[in-house]
Amino acid sequence: MAAGEPHFVIIPLLAQGHIIPACDMARLLATNGAIVTVVITPANLTRLHSFSTLISTSNLPIRLASLPFPSTAASIPDSCQNVDLVHSPDLFSNFFLAMSLLQTPLLEYLHGQHPPPTCIISDHFQPWGMNIARELSIPNLIFHGFSSFTLTAMLTIKNHKIYQSLTDVHKPFIIPGLPQPIETTKAKAPPFFYEEAPGFEKLAQEAIMAEDTCEGIVLNTCSEMESYFTQQLEELTGKKVYAIGPLPLANKDAASKAARGNKPSIDESQCLQWLDSMPESSVIYVSFGSITHTVAAQLIEIGAGLEASGLRFIWVIKESELMAAPEVGKWLTEEEGFEKRVEGRGMVIKGWAPQAAILGHSAVGGFVTHCGWNSVMESVSAGLPMLTWPHFADQFLNEKVVVEVLKVGVPVGIGKPIMYVFGEEMVVVGREVVEKGVKCLMECGGEGEERRKRVRELGEKVRKAVDKGGSSFENLIKLIEVGSKKLMKST
Ligand code: UDP
Repeated sequence: MAAGEPHFVIIPLLAQGHIIPACDMARLLATNGAIVTVVITPANLTRLHSFSTLISTSNLPIRLASLPFPSTAASIPDSCQNVDLVHSPDLFSNFFLAMSLLQTPLLEYLHGQHPPPTCIISDHFQPWGMNIARELSIPNLIFHGFSSFTLTAMLTIKNHKIYQSLTDVHKPFIIPGLPQPIETTKAKAPPFFYEEAPGFEKLAQEAIMAEDTCEGIVLNTCSEMESYFTQQLEELTGKKVYAIGPLPLANKDAASKAARGNKPSIDESQCLQWLDSMPESSVIYVSFGSITHTVAAQLIEIGAGLEASGLRFIWVIKESELMAAPEVGKWLTEEEGFEKRVEGRGMVIKGWAPQAAILGHSAVGGFVTHCGWNSVMESVSAGLPMLTWPHFADQFLNEKVVVEVLKVGVPVGIGKPIMYVFGEEMVVVGREVVEKGVKCLMECGGEGEERRKRVRELGEKVRKAVDKGGSSFENLIKLIEVGSKKLMKST
């Protein structure tokens, strides 16, 4: 690694939905002439085994800086190194404290690096990255895992002081200042970014300060999807927004697509071979991301709805969900059980799926998603329509992007947010609604066909955006220029 190359340090929130785009971003920067360090902890490094092997065999200048997780100092079990491993709401403030305590060891680590860092990209949830940047006299950029629409909506809601006068969190209101009337509620647009969230006041204040002082904002989106909202966001924040997505498109081959996040619980080639045997655009992919927790009764309703639809599908159930509900495991596998009944047309992945590789297969025709922003970007990149089933956080606003702005999805119809890990044992969506929803998603002709056409065209546009000369590629080059500023000053 020659001195004279920009050296980016990416500090992701320790959650799969943030570490995965951080690794994609690292790949993009590194294939375009930068050196990249991604900051993680030992348990997260173990999960990144395939990614780490791939980058070392391809000689990409990406370093994974694994710093000891400061569990003792933050009074949190050492096993809680990722949001999906924090199983009690009481531990979240300790988790954020532990991440912030990485500041001193990271600075020491970076002092020993050659070439020295020239730019920091801190996750919005890791605002202390600004202190490192200040210490090293280099620029700090903020990475938001949210869409431009979501950030714009949150900011206009804040600027219009809507929540100050709102006592009922479920009372609908129209988000002000948008070019079309879009309705939400406080519960569906939680104020944890631009307002002070109870228990996270200090973090929120630091996050606001980091954004005020940053050199720019980096987003996993692209102009072809959200140019209006990206411009709005630039106006509202006064910051340059680097829309460099879709980030998953940084992975060109099947191996790198399958090496995102955890080790898949199924052999990727076996899964793709199964898809090879299916007709084009006929398989529904059902997955709710990395941290939602679906309770037993709801899992059974999903399964029963998929079964009744008669359609082909791949359904991902998390290991933690099966551990919490052994009866579901039995329901799936017993002699005349679910898997037997849907054999030949339905596959259940128990654990982690090679999602990007699956979505990229031509046999897949639709995605039942919780609307995590990474999943939305992956679906659009693959030109797939969505059945939207948001649970919490930014997911309801993302649903608005999918259904009302881009018009590439249909809502399953979730009325109120569902808590993810600590939720009650309840069925939110019954089997008939699941069946109707997936049939509507896969509908040939009519509105279904229109949606499919729209998302296919959008998919083509976003894939072009990351190619040389495309909008996201140009933004990436500008981002690399920010990382090169320090080098220019010193020459
Ligand atoms: N993911 C995956 N396999 C799984 C579950 C999730 O590869 O079995 C990936 C998915 O492709 C996405 C990320 O994990 O890149 C989840 O991020 P998203 O924003 O969609 O949801 P979150 O997990 O943050 O709620």
